[in-house]
Amino acid sequence: MPNNLLGCPSCRDTYLAQSGIFSCPERRPGEEHTLQRILDLGARPAESIRNSWKQGSLHTFALLHPLLSGCGLLGYDRYLRILDPITDRLQRMEGRSFEVTPLTAESRLASALGRNGRLWVKNETGNVSGSHKGRHLMATLLYLEALRELRGETARKVLAIYSCGNAALGAAAVARAGGYGLHAFVPEDVDPTVAAMLAERGAFVEKIPRAGTGEGDPCYLAFQEALRQNGWLPFACAGNDNWSNIEGGATLGWEMLMQLGDRSEGIDSVVIQVGGGALARSVAQAFEEALQLGFMRTLPRIHVCQPEGGFPFVRAYLLALAEIARRSGRSFDLRYDKGADPISQLQETAAFARTRPDQIQEAAAFVKGIFDTQVVQLVLNKMADNASHFMWPWDGAAPHSLAHGILDDVTYDWYHLLRAVLRSGGLAEILLEETIRDAYEKAHFHTGIHVCPTGASGLAGLMQLQASGAITPGESVGLFFTGFDRARTQ
Ligand SMILES: [Zn+2]
Repeated sequence: MPNNLLGCPSCRDTYLAQSGIFSCPERRPGEEHTLQRILDLGARPAESIRNSWKQGSLHTFALLHPLLSGCGLLGYDRYLRILDPITDRLQRMEGRSFEVTPLTAESRLASALGRNGRLWVKNETGNVSGSHKGRHLMATLLYLEALRELRGETARKVLAIYSCGNAALGAAAVARAGGYGLHAFVPEDVDPTVAAMLAERGAFVEKIPRAGTGEGDPCYLAFQEALRQNGWLPFACAGNDNWSNIEGGATLGWEMLMQLGDRSEGIDSVVIQVGGGALARSVAQAFEEALQLGFMRTLPRIHVCQPEGGFPFVRAYLLALAEIARRSGRSFDLRYDKGADPISQLQETAAFARTRPDQIQEAAAFVKGIFDTQVVQLVLNKMADNASHFMWPWDGAAPHSLAHGILDDVTYDWYHLLRAVLRSGGLAEILLEETIRDAYEKAHFHTGIHVCPTGASGLAGLMQLQASGAITPGESVGLFFTGFDRARTQ
C-alpha cells in the first residue's frame, strides 16, 4: 500500500502520513517547519493517474486518487467507500460535488490584452461553495476519515478554521457533508451573506475584532488558541497548520495539466494570486510532481502577485533574490532594513519593484539557471532556519485592496512556494489597485465568468508582467479564476 511521507525543510527529516500529524512535531517560532507531502513512487502513481484519467470520470477525488493520502492509507476500495457517501451528501446539500472544472482558451480576453499566445482560464467559480477552497479541505476530510477508519474510532473530532470568507464557506460545506462540527474564526466585519451561509451549514461563527498590524491576523491567533485549549483539529486552508489541504488544492493544477494534455497543448507560464499562499503552492506542487512523474518536460514559469495594500510574499521573494545575488557577487539594488520604519521600507521596496523590473527579471533568470547549485540551496536552507528574516507579519499600513480575499498578514505557505517560483524562473509582482480593478472589469466583459476581484487578480498580474516585458504576448499562459462574485450577482 502506498506510504506517503511528509518532509520538513527545517528538520530536513520525514514523517509518515499515517502518523496523523498535521504539522511538524518539532516546529519552533522563527523556523520554517511546514510539511510537504512526498509521493511514494513505488506505488507507480503516474501509471495510476493515466489509467484513471482515461476512464473519463469527472469526479476529481476519484480520478486523482493516486495523489491523495487518504487513498494511500486505506487502499482504493476502502477509500471509495468513504468518498462516495460524502460525494452524495455534497450533491444533496450543496447541489454540486467535486467535479473537474472547466478549462477554456479565452481568445477574446487574449485579444483585448494584445496577446497572440493562448490564454487558458481554469474556472473555479462553479465549484462547491463557489471557490477552489472546498477542494483543498476535501483532501483533509478524506485524510481525517481514513485515519478514523484505520483507528476504528467512531467519534469525529471538532474542526476549526480561520478565514475572511471563501475558505470558511468551503470548510463548512465539506465539514457538514462529512458529519463534522466546525468553528469558523472570521473578522468582526465579515460579509453578512457569508456569515448567514456559514450558519446555514451548521458552522459556529466566531467573530474576532481587528487589531493593529505587525502582530499577525487576530482570527489566526484566536484559531491557534482554540486548537491549544480545546484540542480541535486544524481544518485550515494553509499548509503550516495543515499540510493535507495542499494535496487537495494540487488537484486543481493536476486537472489543468491533464486537460491541456488531452488537447495536446502545453503552457509556458501561470500567474497566480497569493494571499495565504495555499492556492499557488498547491498548483506549484502539482506542476513539480507532474515534471517528476514525466507528465511534462519543463516546469512552466510560476509567477505570483499580491496587492500593493499587502505584499509579504513579494517582500520575501525580493529578499531571497537579494541574498542569492549578494552571495553570487551580482548587483541587486534593494536595501531593506528590518529595524527601520516599516512603512518607508515597504514603500521603497514597491518603488524598487516598479522601477527595476529589468534587474529583477535578470536575477530571476540567473537563479533559475543555478537553482541546483550550492549557492541557492544554502540560501534555501538559511531561509528555513531563519524564516522570520524573510517572512514576518505585514507591518505596513492596514491591509486594503479591492482584492480583499488575498490580504493575509502572513503568506503562511511562503517557503515551498518561494522554492518553486525561484526554481521555475518566475516573478512575484506587486499589483496596483487600478490594475486589479481593470482586470476585474476585463474578466467580466471578455469571458462572461462571474469572478470576484480577488479571483481575477491573477489576470492583473499577467497585465503588469506583460507590460514590463516579463511575459511575452506569444507565450501560452494559464490563470485561475477562483471565486464566484457574490457582490455583483446578489
Ligand atoms: Zn520540522
